[in-house]
Amino acid sequence: MSDDIRYNKTFDLEPGRATDVAPGVRAIVANNPSPFTFKGTVSYIVGRGKVAIVDPGPEDGTHIAALLDAVRGETVTGIFVTHTHRDHSSAVPKIKAATGATVYAEGRHRPARPLQIGEAARLDASADIDFRPDLALADGDVVTGDGWTIKALTTPGHTANHMAFALKEADLIFSGDHVMAWSTSIVAPPDGAMSDYMASLEKLARRSEPIYLPGHGGPVRDAPRFVQSYIRHRQAREVSILRRLAKGAADIATLVRAIYIGLDPRLAGAAALSVLAHLEDLVARGVVATDGTPSLAGTYRLAELPLPGG
Ligand SMILES: [Zn+2]
Repeated sequence: MSDDIRYNKTFDLEPGRATDVAPGVRAIVANNPSPFTFKGTVSYIVGRGKVAIVDPGPEDGTHIAALLDAVRGETVTGIFVTHTHRDHSSAVPKIKAATGATVYAEGRHRPARPLQIGEAARLDASADIDFRPDLALADGDVVTGDGWTIKALTTPGHTANHMAFALKEADLIFSGDHVMAWSTSIVAPPDGAMSDYMASLEKLARRSEPIYLPGHGGPVRDAPRFVQSYIRHRQAREVSILRRLAKGAADIATLVRAIYIGLDPRLAGAAALSVLAHLEDLVARGVVATDGTPSLAGTYRLAELPLPGG
């Protein structure tokens, strides 16, 4: 994997213990580490007294108890959900039942494009299809609480319903799985779409908040520049794909071998899906061709340029 992004894998939180991570923001990490979740999903508590929770996390009894314990004596007025992957949203029903808070999110889970054969099972494994917000937020919507102002920013790409939340008082963004300091985001069809993801990165790159608090790992610092490096990283990946295809048609396994050097074998499936996400975008833009709809099983080639005058 190329090292153009200056990742920061520093992470000091211990599962179950609320820690101040920014003015008026506490964080609690769930004990669900994995190659995809890093040290675990991070839930945030915003404010004091009348508080909001961002991403309640997985449906894990210990994590839910720790989160409720951290807000004991306080009132939770809002629950904000960045996206409907189970490790972020499946604790919502229990936290809502215990607190009576209003649940805010972009909407229910949906794939970024129509499903192909065999994709439903993969979606079921990670997606929280039962999730429903009490209030669906649109881009730019603002929710205010006691000492906090949260603005919704639609950031589709990792999922179609991904939202980031800007916290005005601390000049930071809760970036969910869209931008993280420890790793790039996973953009895996059918949940993810590369064209949306790139547009969402461009959108955040135009903002000024210097700090992002992500759904996994520690804070992103110097965030606008970090987002620019995320954009360049994807552009470089696209160039690698096109370079390999310039040598001849290839399937996704061949492209993964050509692009990802020293890949953790546990991430091979995710890498294939990430390449598929790029190929879907390249086919839609007419740069790459394949037979039929782009799929994991397809063979890809550079699209032929139209003949001059033809
Ligand atoms: Zn996710």
